[in-house]
Amino acid sequence: MIENKVCPKCRSKEIGQGKQIGHGKMLPVNNTFMSLGSNIVADICTECGYILEMRVEKPHKFK
Ligand SMILES: [Zn+2]
Repeated sequence: MIENKVCPKCRSKEIGQGKQIGHGKMLPVNNTFMSLGSNIVADICTECGYILEMRVEKPHKFK
């Protein structure tokens, strides 16, 4: 559980973390090598399923 996060849809504080792998990988647009992509992690409301935030695990790869 992540502290201080509240779902804007249902006001639940039960926020979990999800991870997109495989086809959910985000790649830099100028990079065609799959291995250099980064997984996407998301903060998800475990009550209603709303995704509060999505981000890549390794943002420096997109510089
Ligand atoms: Zn919610």
